[in-house]
Amino acid sequence: MNLFGLSPAALREFFAGLGEQPFRATQVLKWVYHRGVLDFEAMTDLSRALRARLQETARVEPPPVAGRQQSVDGTWKWLMGLDDGNCVETVYIPDEERGTLCISSQVGCALGCSFCSTGYRGFNRDLTTAEIVGQVWQARRELAAGGAGRPLTNVVLMGMGEPLLNLDQVLPALQLLLDDLAFGLGRRRVTLSTAGVVPALERLRVECPVSLAVSLHAPNDPLRDQLVPINRKYPIRELLEACWRYVAEAPKSVVTFEYVMLAGVNDSLEHARQLAALLRDRPAKVNLIPFNPFPESGYARSAVAVVDRFREVLLEAGLMTITRRTRGEDIDAACGQLVGRVLARPRRARLSCPYPVYAEGGGQ
Ligand code: SAH
Ligand code: SF4
Repeated sequence: MNLFGLSPAALREFFAGLGEQPFRATQVLKWVYHRGVLDFEAMTDLSRALRARLQETARVEPPPVAGRQQSVDGTWKWLMGLDDGNCVETVYIPDEERGTLCISSQVGCALGCSFCSTGYRGFNRDLTTAEIVGQVWQARRELAAGGAGRPLTNVVLMGMGEPLLNLDQVLPALQLLLDDLAFGLGRRRVTLSTAGVVPALERLRVECPVSLAVSLHAPNDPLRDQLVPINRKYPIRELLEACWRYVAEAPKSVVTFEYVMLAGVNDSLEHARQLAALLRDRPAKVNLIPFNPFPESGYARSAVAVVDRFREVLLEAGLMTITRRTRGEDIDAACGQLVGRVLARPRRARLSCPYPVYAEGGGQ
């Protein structure tokens, strides 16, 4: 049994099953997540007999780092190897006093957004909780070993995959990110980004309301249907209502809306006005994202002046709006450039995705 990635509750249950006290879980969690120790032999506050028993029945094993790259701008990217030959990507973005880790939640993505290279390559499988949390564990270790005390202060689920289509594995991972016995990050320092799977958003709100980012990318349904196909199932109005509910009980919380700027597609002044009308006087802020091209996309990045004008319209409507700086482009670590290694799957297996229509679109 691999104990890595088990939630505190699951670990307590594991020790109860061995006839041990619940505080054993606390001890092991601290060894693994605070001190980075994986070897039971080195967990010296466990009795010798328990250590021997654990050696026989269990292991603590995060996914291995299969490759690493560093950008000229300080961004780091890791390829995490999974035991079935797939790989996912994890990106670290240092920014003055903050250090943000962008982690993946699936191998590929089934939602097939037309501007995203992850979506373009299709979906293979969900990550396990251990594989999700393992990215943070490995990155922290690598940063401690290789960088001059670089901090890891924030985690964003904005890498490969749609986290709300893998909530069963993502929720325990979020709990470990927040738990003081593991990574101990505050709720505001953990952000989940979604293309808008409304029912799962409701579940997240009830079970673990971390900070929320929503990939909007279009201010009306006909355009969003094209760019973000899951909009056909959960259109803008329904999505926004779920967003406002999400932050209703958390004073001062806002939803961050991501909007990738595609030249001549969604970047006109009229689009900006429509977007302002949707979000005005709401607990919202907007991140305008320069499009990161990939060969098959057919889109181009909006000119800087166009992005600036678009931003002005939103600012005039009282919306906090920033233009995201592109980072890590030279190592293909920028938003939407993460592809990892997604092994092809037999067609039948693909259809097991809960959203078959989008799974089929995923490879286009
Ligand atoms: N599936 C989730 C999280 C991963 S995508 C989601 O869609 O929110 C993370 C962010 O990168 C999203 O806002 C996505 O729209 C953006 N993105 C995808 N492809 C991009 C590209 N080619 N250029 C810039 N941003 C992109
Ligand atoms: Fe999936 Fe997000 Fe890419 Fe859309 S933008 S295909 S939801 S990873």
